[in-house]
Amino acid sequence: MLKINQIWNNILLEAEAKTPSTLAYDLYINSLQPVGIYKDRLILLTVNRAIKNIVDNNYKGILKSCTNIVFPSIIDVEIITEEDLPHLGNVQQEVDIPVTASYVSDTEEKVSFVSQYTFENFVIGKSNEYAEAVARAVADNPGTKYNPVYLWGGVGLGKTHLMHAIGNHIQRAFPDKKIMYVACDQFVNEFIESVRDTSNDSSSMKNFRDKYRKLDVLMMDDVQFLAGKESSQEEMFHTFNALYLANKQIILSSDRPPKEIKIEDRLKTRFGMGIIADIQAPDLETRIAILQKKCNNKGYTLNIKVLSLIAEKITNNIREMEGMLNRIISYSTLVGGDPNDLNIVNDALRDYADSSNDIITIDHIVNAGCEYFHVKKEDLIGKKKNKEIVVPRQICIYLICDILGQSMPLATIGEFFGGRDHTTVMHARDKISEEIKTNDVTAAQVKDIRDKIYNR
Ligand code: ADP
Ligand code: MG
Repeated sequence: MLKINQIWNNILLEAEAKTPSTLAYDLYINSLQPVGIYKDRLILLTVNRAIKNIVDNNYKGILKSCTNIVFPSIIDVEIITEEDLPHLGNVQQEVDIPVTASYVSDTEEKVSFVSQYTFENFVIGKSNEYAEAVARAVADNPGTKYNPVYLWGGVGLGKTHLMHAIGNHIQRAFPDKKIMYVACDQFVNEFIESVRDTSNDSSSMKNFRDKYRKLDVLMMDDVQFLAGKESSQEEMFHTFNALYLANKQIILSSDRPPKEIKIEDRLKTRFGMGIIADIQAPDLETRIAILQKKCNNKGYTLNIKVLSLIAEKITNNIREMEGMLNRIISYSTLVGGDPNDLNIVNDALRDYADSSNDIITIDHIVNAGCEYFHVKKEDLIGKKKNKEIVVPRQICIYLICDILGQSMPLATIGEFFGGRDHTTVMHARDKISEEIKTNDVTAAQVKDIRDKIYNR
């Protein structure tokens, strides 16, 4: 039996690799909530009609095909909003469905390796050759030789790709090995759930431990997210020891070296006691070679001039580079032009630059608000309760909710504003939202700040 969240997480992995831009992925795909399965359809909840339309019109194809790759028996994907919930039939949240072979290991747990993330598809340059060699060595010889392996480097430089490459390889070369890839967050969440469920189900903790401690290979991605989570760190410490003492392979990744993660010392020491390999930003030649590889895989024929142009613009994040490549392809298809025509490329990139300016963060909004009202940021997000601060604070909160929408949970906004409760955020949002209807001054202020945010 698979839980709906497991199903959805597997689809997300596939979708992440296939969505043209990370922003689109985060905004429109990763934000969907799986509701369940109803009559062989996967039901996904979105926040409002507007987003539903965007997803329906632009991302449903991708969602359907990714779902189909992983779970061939799910025939369709349906996007709904809260209003539709009461009209849903009996939705199943746990189902027994076939999973495509490469997604299951011989344990009942699914192992999800993105099929494109292989060693063959990984381009080697000076910046990553050591990490790649280490990854290949463990993939060829999982066990005690290099243990643990710790890969670290900035965002979008290929850590996850290498881990999946190890996974794909081991699964093929050593089909008997029990291997698991887990994002750190997922481990933390499962641990919390097991602790929570222990009162109802005394086996929940044991199941959790069996799952992680009876593996031949454990890969944990982004271990920096253990920071601040003490009981998860403790659990990881014991998981680590159990595997290590049994000569099982452990592979970790992070955005920084072991000694810089904010975790307890004994775990830090363990993470760093095997092989540590870093990945740096690739040089220009490597970046171009990566683009060439992506083009070959996707069947694009772009000439070296265009590829160089992309590689010169984006220097330290391969995912972004791919985003730009995809943008050029989709733009040229859209306008019916040649993607090798530099005019077309420049138009596409202008479009890209405009859309990346759209990446507005809480910080942008708060800064614009502070500038407009001439208040200090620390006051705005602090405890002061005088009117000169409270009104700008509420307006900023309103704008954050309005502009960032559901991609920004109320609790996160509250956290940003000095640890306020989500109900305080809701109150501010609703108050200003009403006020703009009746008070021209407030309406004008909101408009001015909004213009400032968008640099109009
Ligand atoms: P990280 O986990 O370090 O943030 P990812 O592994 O998700 O980065 O890589 C981001 C994107 O860049 C992926 O699409 C990946 O395939 C690609 N990529 C990164 N490094 C390489 C490389 N050396 N060769 C080919 N593709 C790469
Ligand atoms: Mg990653």
